[in-house]
Amino acid sequence: MVTKPLPRIDAVNAPFFAACNQGKVLMQRCAAPECRHFIYYPRVCCPVCHSGDLDWVEVSGRGRIKTFTVVHRPHHDGFMAETPYIFAAVEIEEGPVLYGRIEGDPSRPPKIGDAVGPVFVQHTPEQKLLAFRAEAAR
Ligand SMILES: [Zn+2]
Repeated sequence: MVTKPLPRIDAVNAPFFAACNQGKVLMQRCAAPECRHFIYYPRVCCPVCHSGDLDWVEVSGRGRIKTFTVVHRPHHDGFMAETPYIFAAVEIEEGPVLYGRIEGDPSRPPKIGDAVGPVFVQHTPEQKLLAFRAEAAR
């Protein structure tokens, strides 16, 4: 049996993955008063103003599908048993684009622009990961 790979969790991104285990989406936000840019993926400094003063804040995780694909040939054999599945880029309300699975029937795929919200799926016994599911139209 091939096991699924884990994300590489390090000092910079650890708060994001710890929050997933608590059912929350945490995101970095630049603390510079003139910037306040939301940042994803986690980094050591703001990509807009280069400030190293970043806060972790809880965000909604709600957004809209920017694009998606139905995966039949996964990037890793550990996901083969779960194919086909929907993988999408989701632009969340706070601005950044996150990537993850969309729960649902891949034979009835979503539409670009559909509203989605966060769900947290057990990836390994120790780690939940962020995924998305359709929300009622807003
Ligand atoms: Zn900034």
